[in-house]
Amino acid sequence: MSFDSFAFNPRITAGIHDLKYQDPTPVQAQVIPHVLAGRDVIGIAQTGTGKTAAFVLPMLQRLMQGPRGRLRALIVAPTRELAEQIQGVIEALGQHTGLRSVTLYGGVSFNAQIQRLRRGIEIAVVCLGRLLDHLGQGTVSLDHLEMLVLDEADQMFDMGFLPDIRRILRQTPARRQTLLFSATMPNDIRALADEALRNPVSVQIGRVAPATTVNHAIYPVAPHLKTPLLIELLQTIDTESVLIFTSTKHRAKRLGEKLVQLGYRATSLQGNLSQNRRQAALDGFRDGSYQILVATDIAARGIDVSSISHVINYDMPNTAEAYTHRIGRTGRAARTGDALTLVTNEDAAMIRAIERVLGAALKRELLAGFDYNAPAPIRDAEFARPPREPQYRRNEPRRRESRPDGTPARPAHSPHHAGAARPGNRRAGGRSEERIR
Ligand code: AMP
Repeated sequence: MSFDSFAFNPRITAGIHDLKYQDPTPVQAQVIPHVLAGRDVIGIAQTGTGKTAAFVLPMLQRLMQGPRGRLRALIVAPTRELAEQIQGVIEALGQHTGLRSVTLYGGVSFNAQIQRLRRGIEIAVVCLGRLLDHLGQGTVSLDHLEMLVLDEADQMFDMGFLPDIRRILRQTPARRQTLLFSATMPNDIRALADEALRNPVSVQIGRVAPATTVNHAIYPVAPHLKTPLLIELLQTIDTESVLIFTSTKHRAKRLGEKLVQLGYRATSLQGNLSQNRRQAALDGFRDGSYQILVATDIAARGIDVSSISHVINYDMPNTAEAYTHRIGRTGRAARTGDALTLVTNEDAAMIRAIERVLGAALKRELLAGFDYNAPAPIRDAEFARPPREPQYRRNEPRRRESRPDGTPARPAHSPHHAGAARPGNRRAGGRSEERIR
């Protein structure tokens, strides 16, 4: 199949050429015709499959006709990074269309967003907290919305956003086209789809990138030897761009600092950074100024850096889905990539779960010449013990990390939880920009 078969407006085709996309990816081939036909679509697809362009291209096509200067398409993303990434795709593919888009998320100036909205836009890429703020202040209206996209819906659900999504849905016209993308389809997301979508078409794309183009290997190691083994691996293997995952923000920061001390062009990305510093870390990683980025799952969600050669799991993820998400960052668009995971005895059950999902055994590797029997250094307190589980208040459901759109996290099913927001950090809209953890 070729992009010609969609008969896109020539201004959109020019954008596709600029990005040097030759043919549609499987998710694009399956989703785009339905969206162009005006159908609601459930897309079960992960990052790395080309899902962003699968909704952006037909969206641009629809918006080329009809009025300009009013908000007609809304894309809701769970994190600021993903929102920025989607915005980048809209700007690149839509650069010849004259259509205007804005990102709305917390942690950055409210007034600058209002100015941008006043100049007139057709598309908004948003995180929920800040969108609700704008709706509350009357600076955004969804009255003319024609298209709504919920991206990474399972992630939004995990982060407790479901009540916010419902609040947004109530403010949109009933006669709208709705697209929902999710890597997995648990019952709660299925229920949301039943509420929000009309007679949707379901499209499922398998784990294209990890299954076909990524080499997986696990490196058994004692917990206190993880850092020395990582450093030895970095010295031994031929890497371009390396994305390293840790289980906590603190470990991401510490490991990033350690690698910088050792002379690596490294940085870390975790929820404690200001938006400017997060963006600087991401931009630096994308343009190659940093060769290594150390990140937590949430901070790295949706990172799209096409040249990532290695994903290294310094800490094993909590679920098999998180593993496939992480390694979805390498081996993209027909490149090959490597996924290395440092595993300790405690990770045996998770290894089996991942092997079940991948349908193949993970290769066990030992690094030749590495001293696997070295004793624990007396002062390496942080890395010698397993990461501490985050502390939760009693009766509070578990969250994986604070809401990366900069608004306070709330437990799922409890929209009014405000216990952790400190005074003094509130502003006119009533929502705090405070992060909980
Ligand atoms: P996504 O799943 O939307 O994050 O996209 C993953 C990567 O695939 C991004 O780097 C896109 O630029 C790239 N991509 C998307 N569509 C195509 C295409 N048709 N041909 C080649 N690369 C693509």
